[in-house]
Amino acid sequence: MTGSNPMSIAIDGPAGAGKSTVSKLVALRLGLQYVDTGAMYRGVALAALRRGVSPDDEPQLTAIADNLEFSFKVERPSENDLVIRVFTDGEEVTKEIRAPECGNMASKVSSVSGVRRALVAQQKHMGAAGGVVMEGRDIGSVVMPGAPVKIFLTASAEERARRRTLELEQKGTPQSFEQVLAEIRERDHRDSTRADSPLKPAPDSVTVTTDGMSIPQVVEEIVRIAESKIAP
Ligand code: C5P
Repeated sequence: MTGSNPMSIAIDGPAGAGKSTVSKLVALRLGLQYVDTGAMYRGVALAALRRGVSPDDEPQLTAIADNLEFSFKVERPSENDLVIRVFTDGEEVTKEIRAPECGNMASKVSSVSGVRRALVAQQKHMGAAGGVVMEGRDIGSVVMPGAPVKIFLTASAEERARRRTLELEQKGTPQSFEQVLAEIRERDHRDSTRADSPLKPAPDSVTVTTDGMSIPQVVEEIVRIAESKIAP
């Protein structure tokens, strides 16, 4: 993990597979930086919602993605926790970008090629030096195609909906299981059928299906895969 090509791990997969929680813990375990690319699509979505820009307005959405300035502050409240605070144009939007309507808008704006081009360029830059765990939908295929470790983290739609329903309840913004499941299916469909960078496992990725697995078990499995790649 030292030298000119430090370990990079790409973690892709559908909404609700546990990517964020697992990616942060893997980064902590292996002493790597953590990059959440979904937060960037959400940041563009929030700016578009606030400015009343339609999800079909490609030129305006591309202009937002080209000009929005992202910064991240990493905090470590405890040994096993990472909190990433997200800022766009200097304003903290950590909470706002997690609202369900922002997630839906993010899924829509992420199918705009100009938005992807702008954000992928920034993400490639962040991953260029290595030493990162980067999570998203197209990290192993487009952003870091040379990453030595590529994980496709997934779970059944029902399992993901169950987890998301619980999470929303804990956050005090409850939604019914049926509604969450319908939204997950809709997002899966949109993410996997879009023309530009559809969500699919990179050919050289390892698929980890997390139904029935605890978070520590998933983290262990990914660390094992990563270690087998660096010290086979
Ligand atoms: O991962 P998260 O749910 O925060 O991502 C929000 C949306 O951004 C996803 O629905 C997906 O459509 C999009 N996204 C993407 N490519 C990435 C990361 C996220 O298209 N690398």
